[in-house]
Amino acid sequence: MNFDELYQHLILDHSKHPRNYGELEQEGTVHVHGDNPSCGDEIHLHVRFGPENVEEIRFTGHGCAISQASASMMTLKLKGKAREEAERLLRLFHARVAPGGEGADDPGPRELGDLNVLSGVRQFPQRVKCAMLAWRAFEQALEETREGASGTAGARVSTEKEE
Ligand code: ZN
Repeated sequence: MNFDELYQHLILDHSKHPRNYGELEQEGTVHVHGDNPSCGDEIHLHVRFGPENVEEIRFTGHGCAISQASASMMTLKLKGKAREEAERLLRLFHARVAPGGEGADDPGPRELGDLNVLSGVRQFPQRVKCAMLAWRAFEQALEETREGASGTAGARVSTEKEE
């Protein structure tokens, strides 16, 4: 499969059959509502952190295929990861989809795996907001659970101003 075929295949597969789709209700679960008004994408991200890692992560949502596929692939990637590693992957992913990064023919960091196919969005600033939505929600979940954070139920983020 060439890059475009792989891209189509993965986006379709994950948007039609999202992984880790659902909610988490246990105590200590962080819930972040993310939206991307310019496309109409929404995501509800549920994360339960262990002492050092991302113990469980699920999402529900609706919107374009890119936003939902990115969320699905993100949950697969981050589940079980140490907090620091998850933060590093967030930065790697952002660098991968942000405009002005490496060329699309660059295979990208191996750690990102299938998520590298989303690098195609960098030519379309509006689509970057779609791809980053779940990740910004995850970033907020990290923020909510930092030591000393007051802890809120129902944080919100938006990729309206994403660049
Ligand atoms: Zn979208």
